Amino acid sequence: SVAVVLFTSDLRLHDHPPLHAALASADEVVPLFVRDDAVARAGFCAPNREAFLADCLRDLDAGLRDRGGRLVIRSGEIVDEVRRVVTETGAGEVHLAADVSGHAQRREERLREALASAGCRLRVHDAVVTAVAPGAVVPSGSGKDHFAVFTPYFRSWSQVGLRTPFGAPRAVRVPDGPASEPVPERSRVSGVSQGVAEGGEREGRRRMTAWRRQGLGRYEERQDDLAGDATSRLSPHLHFGTLSPTELVHRARSAGGAGAEAFVRQLCWRDFHHQVLAARPAVSHADYRTRDDRWRTERTAAGDIEAWKEGRTGYPLVDAAMRQLRHEGWMHNRGRLLTASFLVKTLYVDWRIGARHFLELLVDGDIANNQLNWQWMAGTGTDSRPNRVLNPVVQAKRYDTDGAYVRRWVPELEKLGAPAVHEPWRLTGRERAALDYPEPLLDLSEGLARFRDARGLE
Ligand code: FAD
Repeated sequence: SVAVVLFTSDLRLHDHPPLHAALASADEVVPLFVRDDAVARAGFCAPNREAFLADCLRDLDAGLRDRGGRLVIRSGEIVDEVRRVVTETGAGEVHLAADVSGHAQRREERLREALASAGCRLRVHDAVVTAVAPGAVVPSGSGKDHFAVFTPYFRSWSQVGLRTPFGAPRAVRVPDGPASEPVPERSRVSGVSQGVAEGGEREGRRRMTAWRRQGLGRYEERQDDLAGDATSRLSPHLHFGTLSPTELVHRARSAGGAGAEAFVRQLCWRDFHHQVLAARPAVSHADYRTRDDRWRTERTAAGDIEAWKEGRTGYPLVDAAMRQLRHEGWMHNRGRLLTASFLVKTLYVDWRIGARHFLELLVDGDIANNQLNWQWMAGTGTDSRPNRVLNPVVQAKRYDTDGAYVRRWVPELEKLGAPAVHEPWRLTGRERAALDYPEPLLDLSEGLARFRDARGLE
């Protein structure tokens, strides 16, 4: 018998329940990846993610070849392509990881229908993309289908018994026949940011091991240190599924300590947003909680939006973070919070504009984490303090105390020490004249007044 394993956001061999189940039930398995036309049409194939994806597919194919198999890559409408492979191989089952976006949910439904009419069964596996499946825990006695508040979610989530992670299979027998497109090469993708990290499961596992040895123990005290760059940087691997969130939680828990606890909490944030999106797929573009916001848009704030995107707002920490994003396709969480607050609250621009820009560049860019973190910061999401505004100067003094992060990303300011590096507008005379750096786009108090006024706050 033959089974197809359809890889999507789970490009790994370790701890892969769909592959594990397929190998247990069938003699031969077709590991399949389809470049879905619908994803391209939705504009989701940004170069930085395409480059990382190329690494992931190459590595997945190599891992399968080491085990006697290979990866089958196709392009087209995903449902048609899967059906074609099922017909070509006579497969009786297709295994797929459950996923949360509207697109993924529709894909699953359409696959189920199309396969049923071909006499083939779709088997969907939970807790592959997340550690705990969306809907596995819900607020007790409330009739609600998801948690809207993180802390009670974290409490329930922490009590779920996770499966013991599966090892990678020893051998994978792939039937002769199904043709594959060539494995993509990162070097063929154009428009990729210079500093995009390397993808693939092997690289992900290498990073995970290094992180557990060197970073995890001090994570709690260092996670907000912008210049220290002391977070795991595992987010692209979690996005593409080259690492299993279940395995990461297990490994962190077994390491123990305050660092590991803080890290597991962040992994829980990822699951939290996934369960919100699973229950409310429209929040990818619509407000989770609608407020009467009359955001500025591309039509009314074009110059401000451009300055923000290019990292020349005149606020050094905002500019440093935006330039890191453009250069690496990644930004530190503190930077993401601050630049989002600056765009939506200080410049009063629609969060969707910022979210779209992030998705154009972030290697880890994903609908659940990106859109819901943007909504959190815009106060339209699940934040219980929707009117908080982050001050870039206060944040800079707290999280980039001596200015090293700003100097790294804003070379115009590299000769300045703290505090001038965070407030170059305070310099006068020749010192100011020597700087080729913009004046602040607006006064912070002006931005704050506009926001408070718009929200009807005292
Ligand atoms: P670590 O600090 O090492 O954390 C470990 C893991 O926990 C991360 O890899 C991530 O999977 C998860 N995590 C940490 N913080 C969060 C969070 N706030 N929400 C959800 N998961 C979290 N993360 C994405 O993966 N994709 C995005 O598109 C994305 N967009 C964001 C947009 C905004 C405006 C903000 C404020 C945050 C966004 N985040 C996003 C969350 C967070 O900033 C990144 O996950 C984190 O910076 C990645 O770096 P790391 O792997 O070193 O994180």
